[in-house]
Amino acid sequence: MNVARRAILPAPPDSRALLERVHAIGREAVAPHADAVDRDARFPHEAFAALKAEKLLGAYVPAECGGMGLDVSQVAQVCEALGHHCASTAMIFAMHQIQVACIVHHALDAPFFRDYARELVARQYLLASATTELGVGGDARSSVCAVKVEDGRFTLEKQAPVISYGATADAILVTCRRSEDAARSDQVQVLVRRQDCALRQLSQWDTLGFRGTCSPGFEVKSAGDAAQILPAPYAEIHARTQHPFAHVVWASLWVGLATDALNRARGAVRSEARKTPGTIPLSATRLAEADLVLDTMRGTLASTLAEYARLLAQADPDAFGDYRFVVRMNNLKLTASQLVVDVVGRAMVICGIAGYRNDSKLSLGRHLRDATGAGLMVNNDRILGQNATMQVALREG
Ligand SMILES: Cc1cc2nc3c(=O)[nH]c(=O)nc-3n(C[C@H](O)[C@H](O)[C@H](O)COP(=O)(O)OP(=O)(O)OC[C@H]3O[C@@H](n4cnc5c(N)ncnc54)[C@H](O)[C@@H]3O)c2cc1C
Repeated sequence: MNVARRAILPAPPDSRALLERVHAIGREAVAPHADAVDRDARFPHEAFAALKAEKLLGAYVPAECGGMGLDVSQVAQVCEALGHHCASTAMIFAMHQIQVACIVHHALDAPFFRDYARELVARQYLLASATTELGVGGDARSSVCAVKVEDGRFTLEKQAPVISYGATADAILVTCRRSEDAARSDQVQVLVRRQDCALRQLSQWDTLGFRGTCSPGFEVKSAGDAAQILPAPYAEIHARTQHPFAHVVWASLWVGLATDALNRARGAVRSEARKTPGTIPLSATRLAEADLVLDTMRGTLASTLAEYARLLAQADPDAFGDYRFVVRMNNLKLTASQLVVDVVGRAMVICGIAGYRNDSKLSLGRHLRDATGAGLMVNNDRILGQNATMQVALREG
């Protein structure tokens, strides 16, 4: 971009002011509905009305396409801030941003996607993702379904056991084989807009946690313009964006969730301390221990996020395929998804029965149930299995 062009683009918002605004939305439009969203397993409409009003669904779209032009670190901070107030809302926001990043990193040179990015900002479209498939489970780098292209039009059908907010989204990015004779790993990603598809719901979403993500299975039958197929191979999109971006924004919202749990525990410790002036209660020691665990989570996130942001800035396409980078990204997911359960469990012990109750200000039931989903979003055993394979191939640590 030349200097004259840069000068007329709006500057990205100041991070601190942005986060204050997001926390204000969190207090006013997200937290008050979090229990109802969880109880009724319903989409957080109030939260998304507020986020759309602030144009936050276009947060990662570059300013030259009308978006806010935030970088990955700023998007991660927004996810963390939302995680304090409602993990389902934060997860939906994070999953949407991952799909936006796929378009921004890999498709903006194509006229269709450049126009679509502008439209997304103007209309605040919400994007969902269908990688998981009946027959391959959570292996995102493998597809059974295939896109067929004829006379500039595509048709695609997918049996997807989980699509978060599939019924509400304006479009779904669907992974599939490049053609009917392609190998399972020779994939592309197709932007299927709501008007391009018929969705048949295959199951219900009555789960332990992340209930507000509304993620049942769907049969997706779609047809559209071949220009809606992202031009880059999915292998490239996955390595540079879908995999690392997801782990960074997911870990960020889990840090937000864990921080809120610990804040509730801190409230319990302070009220205990007020009852026994001059004596530090045992629960304060437990809080100090739990804070240590949260700090480990934060530290792992900060260093991995910094590395990812640096590699994105360097724009070296080979860097993302380096096994050491992939292992570190996987380690972030494994660490954050395990420690979030640990921190919330420790907060529960500190809050005691008040944390265990569903009708108390210190209630941690929703936090604990949401935290347990983290290890299943791409199963930790699957991730550990990938790391094991790469460890064998790596020559030095
Ligand atoms: C809240 C939530 C929202 C989600 N939203 C979406 C969404 O919007 N779109 C989407 O596409 N998906 C979504 N998912 C799906 C998710 O990411 C998983 O991929 C999906 O749930 C598949 O998980 P699974 O346990 O059924 O299957 P698998 O991941 O296939 O795992 C099944 C079992 O097999 C084991 N296993 C399988 N393969 C291996 C291996 N190679 N090595 C070791 N162990 C292995 C696993 O450890 C596990 O025990 C969501 C999941 C959750 C929890």
